Amino acid sequence: MKRVVLLGSTGSIGTSTLKVAEDLPERVRLVGLAAGGNAELLIQQALRHRPSAVCIHDASKAPMVRAALPPEIRVLTGPEGLLELATLPEADIVLIAIVGTGGLQPALAAIREKKDIAVASKEILVMAGEMVMGEAARQGVRVLAVDSEHSAIFQCLDGKPPESVRNLWLTASGGPFRRTPKEEFPQITVEKALKHPSWVMGRKITIDSATLFNKGLEMIEARWLFSIGMDRVQVVVHPQSIVHSMVEFVDGSILAQMSTPDMCLPIQYALTYPDRAASARVQTNFAKIGSLTFEEPDLDRFPALRLARLAGERGGTLPAVLNAANEIAVDAFCGGQLSFVDITRLVAETMERHAHVPHPSFDEILAADAWARVDARKFVEHHGAP
Ligand code: NDP
Repeated sequence: MKRVVLLGSTGSIGTSTLKVAEDLPERVRLVGLAAGGNAELLIQQALRHRPSAVCIHDASKAPMVRAALPPEIRVLTGPEGLLELATLPEADIVLIAIVGTGGLQPALAAIREKKDIAVASKEILVMAGEMVMGEAARQGVRVLAVDSEHSAIFQCLDGKPPESVRNLWLTASGGPFRRTPKEEFPQITVEKALKHPSWVMGRKITIDSATLFNKGLEMIEARWLFSIGMDRVQVVVHPQSIVHSMVEFVDGSILAQMSTPDMCLPIQYALTYPDRAASARVQTNFAKIGSLTFEEPDLDRFPALRLARLAGERGGTLPAVLNAANEIAVDAFCGGQLSFVDITRLVAETMERHAHVPHPSFDEILAADAWARVDARKFVEHHGAP
């Protein structure tokens, strides 16, 4: 039985995690749930799963949550509440699925309390991969991947050391604009960008999948999770999203992990690891799928991949800057202030202006993140629609 704290329970990953807990009541028990502002759903989830504590980030909603829950479920709020939940004494593992950078401090706090963490929020390893993995190694805890690509690589690696790897191959669906000519990119609307061909996900990651920034963030994440140089992290476009990623070993052998796309599978594996628990949820029929195809990513139409490789290679504060600038750009695009192509332009320009810190402290990472947000907002003011 794994006792799980789930941060971001009301989101796409969060609700899939609840399904996994309901599929496997003997193996997964939710002892803590945290949401941003969706108090109604958090209340429903808490009444069903009876955790010891919940946290609602929006303090104005805390009285409503308190009134709806029985007194034995503690109601916490704000960033302090999130930290308290991440270090709950009865928890074995903390699954972090908060969109944005809010998961970083709870992740570090959980590790310091010697809890395993399961990471969905890419921002954690992108911003502070070296620090998080170093702290996890010192405390002797596991950092388990929830992202389907990293879960696939983890499963294929099966404990083999980085020296046995020639390349890690992250697969990318290519997003909704895989076949869109470059001349049409300036006319891409938010509505079109939100139509992902294979996955139903939160808004931010769906836009990131359309620009391919999502794959870029995953490249940096993979570099830290599997302690491998960026030169050995590769991307191949695979539109069917059946091969979730692959490991090419030094002898030329390639292992892939496959299934029909369903986030419940990597979530379940992270929560039951090292065991595999029986579940009928995911079924894959190769005869129906027919063919699996692969193609080179187009760096000209999707420069996000180049920017992410640069940030991953240079390391230091640059990945945090890429991440923060991209968050501002995605917000501005969704708000109708920036065009689709401006997202990568904004990120590239903010990265260029950044005074890079090679081996940053935690505070320097947060300062780079804050600087990038200010710088990116200036770009929006100058180039964006009012
Ligand atoms: P969603 O937008 O669907 O959900 C985000 C969750 O974060 C919601 O539960 C939201 O609460 C919560 N939240 C936001 N801010 C806070 C806060 N300050 N404190 C507590 N909770 C907060 O996102 P996704 O589930 O799609 O993605 C979550 C993370 O997982 C992202 O980093 C994403 O990149 C990553 N990921 C997602 C995948 C997917 O398939 N969706 C796949 C792999 C990785 P509320 O709704 O109540 O405001």
